Amino acid sequence: MKPPRSLIEIRKLLSSREVDMKTLVEFYLGNIREKKHLNAFIEVFGEEALERADRVQQKIDRGTGGRLAGMVIGLKDNICYKGHYTSASSRSLENFRSIYNATAVDRLLAEDAIIIGRTGCDEFAMGGTNETSYYGPVLNPLDTSRVPGGSSGGSAAAVAADLCLAAIGSDTGGSIRQPASFCGLTGLKPGYGRVSRYGLIAYGSSFDQIGPITHSIQDAALILEVIAGKDEYDSTARSEKVPEYSMLLHSAEGKKDGEPFPRKFAYLKEPLDHPGLDPHIRERTINIIEELRADGFQGEPVSFPYLDYMVPAYYVMATAEASSNLARYDGIHYGHRSENSDNLRSTYVKSRSEGFGTEVKRRIMTGTFVLSTGYYDAYYGKAQKARRLIHEKTMEIFDQYPFIILPTTPRPAFLQGSMGEDPVALYLEDIFTIHANLVGIPAISLPLGKHPEGMPFGLQIMSAGLDETGLLLFSDFMMNRFGSLA
Ligand code: GLN
Repeated sequence: MKPPRSLIEIRKLLSSREVDMKTLVEFYLGNIREKKHLNAFIEVFGEEALERADRVQQKIDRGTGGRLAGMVIGLKDNICYKGHYTSASSRSLENFRSIYNATAVDRLLAEDAIIIGRTGCDEFAMGGTNETSYYGPVLNPLDTSRVPGGSSGGSAAAVAADLCLAAIGSDTGGSIRQPASFCGLTGLKPGYGRVSRYGLIAYGSSFDQIGPITHSIQDAALILEVIAGKDEYDSTARSEKVPEYSMLLHSAEGKKDGEPFPRKFAYLKEPLDHPGLDPHIRERTINIIEELRADGFQGEPVSFPYLDYMVPAYYVMATAEASSNLARYDGIHYGHRSENSDNLRSTYVKSRSEGFGTEVKRRIMTGTFVLSTGYYDAYYGKAQKARRLIHEKTMEIFDQYPFIILPTTPRPAFLQGSMGEDPVALYLEDIFTIHANLVGIPAISLPLGKHPEGMPFGLQIMSAGLDETGLLLFSDFMMNRFGSLA
């Protein structure tokens, strides 16, 4: 069977009866076995997925299949799935079995998606390479000597290697978009609050969002439509009505023009002038901007003077939030309990020392430090001010332009192990993705670049507030216009 690359393709195969749900799931399970060396899945729910396939097939036969009937999905290991282990790829949660579904999972299942397994990630979603997972690194399927990105690296690798059609990731500072960029896929981070965080293992609660990694814009739109919307279990989930994103994108069904969207965008000068930006990524981004202008788009350069504040502000605030969120893994409330302890204090110390890896410990210590008396104002308070400035400046741009274009990452997927011992070098790789998290706006990475070294890279678009609709329409246009040249 030729690997399907969209739900529309699968639907065609199912309705012509060339394929049934069981064959489809068996196809993916076969690929998973064959590509085990990638380490994309921590656990595969094979039997269960086959049983669900039968049930979904019966529904399809009766004409009652849900909106995601035919969609086989990988779920990041930090999103709770009732009755299943969810470890955030950490030793501390190795034996944690979820007793409820994340809201996003409930909604996926209600529309007949099949969750085929849980995908590896950086420990507690902290990282950009997948090398910090307790279960070992995930390899990039396009070149196994390279990282797939992170922290949703297992999700991206699984989709890129056709181990499932789509995957769910989480994005606190780029963890959906950066791996999508490294693996040649579409990665969508919805606006903050668009998708409920209930059941997502918290990292930085004012940044975290769940979103899809897919081959096609249509699948991203459909998954978002299903998982988005208000939720009484998450008071930060937005209550605005969820538009029917998937209906807006007719192009894949061969309809002529999609819905109209404003043909106007800004692009940020500083990222393009950044010394760390790979020259080929720079050139491709500028070419696309110029071609859009030649197509009649109004596209203008805008200065964004706070680019250098992004990484420090994010890493102060995200680690502060992480230090608080991870306090519960003390061996008593939650998480690994050391067998070598004999009193309360040593239970805390040893359970946490054994349960967490180096990067997580570094973040907890950094976060605790920036929140501590005497340093709070100098670090956490400052970072909040920087976040406010970044927010205000970004909103000023959105007053005039509906979209902002910038690269997703400074360079394509790097070699496994190449980041060495310097955590800051890796943090700096997040410079273009964390903008959207700091401001809480939607952002997408589109697979529009191919580096001469052979690896793909993404182009990023951000949109205002909760305007995923405009973002998806523009993205659909972009893929039709530039996708085949990537
Ligand atoms: N690389 C970033 C970090 O380590 C982003 C992580 C994420 O989005 N989960 O914090």
